[in-house]
Amino acid sequence: MEGLLAEKKRVVVVGGGAAGSVIAKTLQLHADVSLIDLKEYFEVSWASLRAMVEPSFANRSLINHSEYAPNAHVITSAATNITGNEVMTAQGRAVAYDYLVIATGHVDNGAHTKAEKINQYQAEQDKIKSANSILIVGGGPTGVELAAEIAVDFPGKKITLVHRGSRLLEFIGEKAGKKALDWLNSKKVEVILGQSVKLDSESDGVYETSGGETIVADCHFICTVKPIGSSWLKETILKDCIDIKGRLMVDKNLRVKGHDNIFAIGDITDIPELKQGYLAQEHALVAAKNLQALIEGKTDCCALSVYKPASPMALVSLGRREGVAQIMCLTIGGRIPGIVKSGDLFVGKTRKLLGLKSA
Ligand SMILES: Cc1cc2nc3c(=O)[nH]c(=O)nc-3n(C[C@H](O)[C@H](O)[C@H](O)COP(=O)(O)OP(=O)(O)OC[C@H]3O[C@@H](n4cnc5c(N)ncnc54)[C@H](O)[C@@H]3O)c2cc1C
Repeated sequence: MEGLLAEKKRVVVVGGGAAGSVIAKTLQLHADVSLIDLKEYFEVSWASLRAMVEPSFANRSLINHSEYAPNAHVITSAATNITGNEVMTAQGRAVAYDYLVIATGHVDNGAHTKAEKINQYQAEQDKIKSANSILIVGGGPTGVELAAEIAVDFPGKKITLVHRGSRLLEFIGEKAGKKALDWLNSKKVEVILGQSVKLDSESDGVYETSGGETIVADCHFICTVKPIGSSWLKETILKDCIDIKGRLMVDKNLRVKGHDNIFAIGDITDIPELKQGYLAQEHALVAAKNLQALIEGKTDCCALSVYKPASPMALVSLGRREGVAQIMCLTIGGRIPGIVKSGDLFVGKTRKLLGLKSA
């Protein structure tokens, strides 16, 4: 057994999100896989807003890495540096690799264990329950989905959403933003566009906006974009492979440009397409195939699969039954996108992809 293990190539995956979880699961029997992640679990991140209004939902959307990748070595720590053959962690470990996969899409400064995360959701639900008025800062998918979850589950609350941009959901088309705005207005959510909230001006539940308006709210939630998870790479051998947006430049086989044994997958890549979890999972499957080919000694680039950027498709849920979808140029609102996403938020589908029971 020891001899067999020694022959296996060492693959280190940094980041256990949508992309990292799938590649670690797929390769765990083909290589000696180490998964380095800030936390002990993978979170279906697009289910997190439902967990804020219904903490028990997180029992299925938080999955310990050891559950879906029992053959991988799970290292719970931040990766801090890379050399040509090792990844350094914040705990001072040096993890050797033959092949490296970077999948640190976004930094999540949340809880380290599943239990801590569920407690966090419980505290957030308590905060929502005990407030009469709630301020949401940010009108991207997180702010819109959270406002919708609260409006549907707690219809008596006064919700104000403030967004600095001129429209909601700027990552997709204008029509989708308008449909989300109309839906929120129909649920009596007040949406203020083109302004930001001066959070440090808050006093006794009174907030000021950049436009001089005042908003009274018992509590607030910040729903602005999470930073891209590449700052830890800025002093490493990959520093010249980071583009102006902080994304890693990859080739058509998903290898970091100029590095034959380093792959990057998920939101951290500069692939010209919408940043979506189902695409991050697709990257993981292509990179896993390519890693298997390389491990088998097929170094010719014709033996490697090519990833083609996807056409724009995104679904934003609006509570438990409705949503807004953009599929290329087509925008649909209402029950149909709701049926596709808003009930289970793709949690069962994601669990199945990781080889787990969907329920
Ligand atoms: C509100 C909202 C709704 C969405 N809805 C959908 C949807 O319906 N469908 C869909 O497909 N996509 C959806 N998305 C997009 C989806 O969440 C992302 O595209 C996806 O999570 C990206 O996956 P990833 O693996 O690249 O990165 P992430 O999921 O961000 O994972 C990154 C991982 O890296 C870890 N990490 C970061 N830095 C380090 C470090 N230095 N060391 C170790 N670990 C590190 C983090 O802890 C994390 O586990 C939605 C996003 C939002 C905000």
